[in-house]
Amino acid sequence: MARPKILVVGAGFAGVECVRRLERRLAPGEADVCLVTPFSYQLYLPLLPQVASGMLTPQSIAVSLRRSRRHRTRIVPGGAIGVDTKAKVCVIRKITGEEVDEHYDYLVLAPGSVTRTFDIPGLAEHARGMKTLAEAAYVRDHVIAQLDLADASEDPAERASRLQFVVVGGGYAGTETAACLQRLTSNAAKRYPRLDPREIKWHLIDIAPRLMPELGEKLGLSALKILRDRGIDISLGVSVAKAAPEEVTFTDGRVVPSRTLIWTAGVVASPLIATLDAETLKGRLAVTAQMTVPGRDGVFALGDAAAVPDLTKDDEGAVCPPTAQHAMRQGRRVADNVIATLREQPLQPYVHKDLGLVVDLGGRDAVSKPLGIELRGMPAQAVARGYHWSALRTNVAKARVMTNWLLNAVAGDDFVRTGFQSRTPAALRDFEYTDSYLTPEEVREHTRAAHFQG
Ligand SMILES: Cc1cc2nc3c(=O)[nH]c(=O)nc-3n(C[C@H](O)[C@H](O)[C@H](O)COP(=O)(O)OP(=O)(O)OC[C@H]3O[C@@H](n4cnc5c(N)ncnc54)[C@H](O)[C@@H]3O)c2cc1C
Repeated sequence: MARPKILVVGAGFAGVECVRRLERRLAPGEADVCLVTPFSYQLYLPLLPQVASGMLTPQSIAVSLRRSRRHRTRIVPGGAIGVDTKAKVCVIRKITGEEVDEHYDYLVLAPGSVTRTFDIPGLAEHARGMKTLAEAAYVRDHVIAQLDLADASEDPAERASRLQFVVVGGGYAGTETAACLQRLTSNAAKRYPRLDPREIKWHLIDIAPRLMPELGEKLGLSALKILRDRGIDISLGVSVAKAAPEEVTFTDGRVVPSRTLIWTAGVVASPLIATLDAETLKGRLAVTAQMTVPGRDGVFALGDAAAVPDLTKDDEGAVCPPTAQHAMRQGRRVADNVIATLREQPLQPYVHKDLGLVVDLGGRDAVSKPLGIELRGMPAQAVARGYHWSALRTNVAKARVMTNWLLNAVAGDDFVRTGFQSRTPAALRDFEYTDSYLTPEEVREHTRAAHFQG
């Protein structure tokens, strides 16, 4: 009899954790495991702002999927663009552009999330995200290019728009991005004698009334004070009304001359989820506590893409927040539940109490709340770096990150602009491939046509 096939979509925190557990726990010959991923690495997203600031090299947070001979999963290099759960087929566009169908017996959907955008004029054309390695590398080059160009310009208006930077989103991604990049540009000012450091200005804005509400009021205020003391202009209750190539208009009427708009105002589930035409909760696929998709045989979903019930909360409708700590643990639980299904054993629900949050603001600045304990300064920084370092999957990634941190502590920042792909399209959709997906009708049509050909 043919072996059952487990197809995992997405090699992020959830997908990789699931695949590695399947490899360890399944007997050889018990099932085939296949992983669909456009990249050959697992990206450690929480350290992305440090790649943008140049403290870490891109390679150090891109953990290879092919480090060990024991990794027996077949990897398909491409992205899933549609799922037909009736036909049990996943349509994949390979990195060559070729479309192929992968049949499955069990499907694990872990495609994560994409940057959430709104219908704001100019946003799609001018905003950059902080969600992929390419975006982080692009933003770094772009920021350094603004310093180079402002330094070379005699035009005060051009200098003003090149030296003001806008970050939207006061969650951990936006706050860390603004903090790390502001540190980079203020250190850079010493190397650009023609630039007045007072001309360099970072704006961090959020429509919410508080920065990082997950930190609680006191710690959130500490983070706000640290950033304001460093000269970052923070505006709360404010968003973007309009974006243009050389200026950003805020909803409070201010027009900021700026050629840099970094958009980190939340995430939404991958567009792959909509191709299933299944029930969603705020865009995330509705799943049971065991992470099965109701009414879809053999389908599991987890991580940022799924609304996994949070059984540790009293509130009945609570779902787990989209964080790496949940995605990783859900990955292990889903692997166990897939194996339990194969072996006709009972499935277990996902239960994990949040361990807290760490926020690295660059240098000695940090705020952390591990297990509810509020920390600031060096202790918070030690916890933040220690947590991320221990969460990296491989020893080689750990060594690369540690070496980069030590090197940065000793030698400081560098301001090298690679110029790589500086003229290629660089809107959010170009980095996050959000327009690659089929509609549910196109998926059904595709599998119907494939069935008749077969
Ligand atoms: C800047 C930043 C900082 C963060 N800091 C923290 C933090 O400090 N702590 C914390 O807990 N969380 C943090 N997060 C959130 C955390 O990174 C996410 O919650 C976590 O990555 C979700 O895991 P996931 O496996 O669901 O998705 P991801 O890790 O995003 O993985 C999804 C994977 O699927 C792939 N993929 C996407 N679409 C397809 C497709 N169609 N077909 C095949 N593959 C596909 C992607 O390439 C990716 O490899 C941060 C996020 C960002 C952006």
